[in-house]
Amino acid sequence: MNLLIKESAEIIKESKFTIAFTGAGISVESGVPPFRGEHGLWNKYNPEVLDLGYYLNNEEECWIHIREIFYDFFAYAKPNKAHEVLARMELEGLLNSVITQNIDNLHFDAGNKTVHEFHGNSKKLKCLKCAKIYDASEYDLKNIPPRCKSDNQILKPDFIFFGEGIPHDAYSNSFADAEKADVCIIIGSTGEVVPASYVPRTAKQNGATIIEINPEESLFTEQVTDIHLQGKAGEILALLEKELF
Ligand code: NAD
Repeated sequence: MNLLIKESAEIIKESKFTIAFTGAGISVESGVPPFRGEHGLWNKYNPEVLDLGYYLNNEEECWIHIREIFYDFFAYAKPNKAHEVLARMELEGLLNSVITQNIDNLHFDAGNKTVHEFHGNSKKLKCLKCAKIYDASEYDLKNIPPRCKSDNQILKPDFIFFGEGIPHDAYSNSFADAEKADVCIIIGSTGEVVPASYVPRTAKQNGATIIEINPEESLFTEQVTDIHLQGKAGEILALLEKELF
């Protein structure tokens, strides 16, 4: 493993444009469970509550589950070592952007500035009628559903539900960066979610070296990964940090 870490550090230092592509796995060490796998949220909850069609017909019922999944679990989560190392890499010029499938805001909390949130952000609430966006912190979510202060419509979390499109800017910026990248570091993603999983694939097609950090194998491992650093995100990035700085 040490040799692979050293090799990865050298590749990152030589790269002119490096991106990180992150999934739910990077936040596991912050106490946020992933969707899939042994302790995944889908073992406990029905994904239907995040289906746009179902939600629009059952907003009040869905909000009971949404509050429990996204605000009880996510509200107290803090960035872990993996988020911190990515923030330091950006600060010191070794990382150009983070493209995340996560909606927990932890990359911004850690200090990263260029973060493309492919699936939106749970810390924002949106009125589907007037399009006003609110900070979730403005609301006491003991009282649900939260309502728009202008037109009293029920607010929807500003992350994408099944059946919704990817936010335009996040989509175009992510693929533009993937096309430019010499190195793409995939952290904690199964690669099962599309179109997000096309981001590292695009980087690979454009010649990037793919470094994957995940304790398990993913769909990426065999198809696009050049170096698999097998382990938890926080532990592997702590080792990488020692070689990088
Ligand atoms: P996923 O839930 O499908 O898979 C998680 C991946 O992380 C797995 O490959 C697993 O092996 C790996 N993993 C587990 N622990 C890890 C650790 N300590 N370090 C590194 N890797 C670890 O995740 P996904 O592919 O990102 O896709 C699921 C979707 O779920 C995304 O669209 C995302 O929006 C959403 N989601 C987000 C959050 C969040 O914001 N934190 C949490 C749950 C789900």
